[in-house]
Formats: sequence, C-alpha cells, structure tokens
Amino acid sequence: MKSRIVLLGAPGSGKGTQAEMITRHFAISVTSPGTILRRERDLGTPLGLEADETSKQGGLVSDEIIVRLIEDWLNLHGQEGFVFDGFPRTVTQAQRLNEILEKRGAALDLAIWLEVSEETVRDRIASRLQCRRCGFTTSLTSAGFAERPVCPYCDGPLIRRNDDDASVLQTRLEEFKSKTEPLLSFYEKDDALHRIDGNRDRDAVFAEIIALIEDREK
Ligand code: AMP
Repeated sequence: MKSRIVLLGAPGSGKGTQAEMITRHFAISVTSPGTILRRERDLGTPLGLEADETSKQGGLVSDEIIVRLIEDWLNLHGQEGFVFDGFPRTVTQAQRLNEILEKRGAALDLAIWLEVSEETVRDRIASRLQCRRCGFTTSLTSAGFAERPVCPYCDGPLIRRNDDDASVLQTRLEEFKSKTEPLLSFYEKDDALHRIDGNRDRDAVFAEIIALIEDREK
C-alpha cells in the first residue's frame, strides 16, 4: 500500500527536491500545483496566465482553483498513494483534501514539515535554478551544472523562477507565515505531522523521510 503524503514548508525548504527523491525511491506519484501552473503559463492557457499574475507577485492562487487541480490529478493518478509538493498551503485546502480523501475511503498518512531558517531560505532561493521543461531544481553553485545551464534529466533550459526575486520572496514568506503556518496545528491534531530539520543537505533529510515512510508502509 503506497503512502499518501503532503510535503509542507517555506519556499526553498526542499519540498520539490524531496518529492522527487521520494518518487524515485518509492515509486509514489508526485504532483505540485506550482509545476502544473507554470506548465499552464508556458502553454499560454487562461488559467496559467491568470495564476502567473498572482504568483509573480508572491501571492497564493485561490483555494478553489488549486483544489480543482488536485482533485483532477487524483482522479487520474491518485489510486495508489501520492506525494503533494506545496499542497495544501492553507487550512481551507487541507480541509478540502481531507473531505476528498474521505469520499474515497482514504486518509492522509504523513504531513511532513520541512523546517528551515530564514537564512537557509534566502540562500537557497538566491541561487535556485529550475528546469523550465520538467521542473528539476538545482542551484547555481551545484558542481557540474554551473557551466551547463541545461537540465541533466531532459535537456530543458535551467532558468531562474520569476518569483524567486528577493522582493517577491518577502511577500511569499509573509503569505507562508499567515496562511500556511496554521497548518502546523491543523495536522498536529490529526497526529499526521512530522517535523524534519530541512536545513541539512538533501541526503540527510531524505534518510529521515525514508524511515518515516518505511515505518508507515510496514
Ligand atoms: P511553488 O512552485 O510550490 O513554489 O509554487 C509557485 C506558486 O504557485 C506559488 O507561489 C503560488 O502562487 C502558486 N501555488 C502553488 N501551490 C499553491 C497552493 N497550494 N495554493 C495556492 N497557490 C499555490
């Protein structure tokens, strides 16, 4: 039985990186509203263009739109567990997710909270590069990629995200504090919450996540 997992944390906390590692290791399907919305924007759809106006200013897209994306994704791919990277980001989204899962006779297994300092966030965001095609995330300083700004997985272009600008980051952090941090007490009530120190390197964080998932899947 594959786990149902949400990865939570501030921008730059490593959600995307860990989601990718989980999907490779455990073959659990992963999705992220941020990636879906960037793809929609690149395709020039009305949804993508409208969401981009909000995202590039550091705001959160409406709960209604995000929940619809997740519900559609679950209908297509969510039969065997999932990892959500960056969903939920508000208490309303978390409540809606519980309702959707309940309708399917399922429940969330793990809410993993990647705790990072503001210094870590600022350092990581300042050097973040992302593949425009597949969403793979790396950093300007990562050896091997610095002189080759193409994705090692799909050869897509590695670019800076338009919401990784320092002034936009400030708004994203404020949104995180006011709208996403209340999820800590929401998931604490359910006993689903696990906090992990996300300031460490990706392998140290992933070792803890492996232990959590293996424990659940026993
Ligand atoms: P991310 O790639 O997860 O950093 O998301 C990029 C942007 O997409 C965010 O800054 C929001 O504008 C939007 N977004 C992604 N996930 C959500 C969500 N769960 N709720 C609202 N907006 C979201």
